[in-house]
Amino acid sequence: MEFSSKLLEKAVNEMSQLPGIGKRTALRLVLHLLNQPESQTFQLVDALKTMRSDIKFCKSCHNISDVELCEICSNPNRISDVICVVEDIRDVMAIENTSSFKGLYHVLGGKISPMDGIGPQDLNIQTLVEKVKQGEVKELIFALGSTMEGDTTNFYIYRQIQDYNVVTSTIARGISVGNELEYTDEITLGRSIVNRIPFEASLKS
Ligand SMILES: [Zn+2]
Repeated sequence: MEFSSKLLEKAVNEMSQLPGIGKRTALRLVLHLLNQPESQTFQLVDALKTMRSDIKFCKSCHNISDVELCEICSNPNRISDVICVVEDIRDVMAIENTSSFKGLYHVLGGKISPMDGIGPQDLNIQTLVEKVKQGEVKELIFALGSTMEGDTTNFYIYRQIQDYNVVTSTIARGISVGNELEYTDEITLGRSIVNRIPFEASLKS
């Protein structure tokens, strides 16, 4: 792609680093930003900058938050010893939308995936295991979706905590096969949390 402006080229190159954005789309977006009122573009830049520099991760559940302890963890009406283990904030949002879950979350920040070089040490697993060891957890609900990576991650965590006095369950299998959690419809997802099954039973199926 030949550019008449180095500034334009640089912006397009940066934009095309985003997932799913090729050079052509990047050019279209950049031209859009150039054509809209300057203030609007600056607002976008500002929002991204502040988000990047000011955002925090909840010190307890690792969910993205504006404060040290997120709104869910600090809510006294939540059941603090039932913890739903999820991959990222999109899963938290999807489950929250169902209004079927009143416990807390633990956000792993990914799934174990040797193919992508992601091991247990790259995820927020140790802090979860600590919570269980401290006796703070009555039930762990695995909600990682039924991919191979999800299964591997569930099993890894299960092995770490199986000797402790904690109930483990998983959202019904088959619900999210081939789908990531975030794409499952609210009613189905809500039902699968309410009707969760013991984790050990899921290993046998
Ligand atoms: Zn939290």
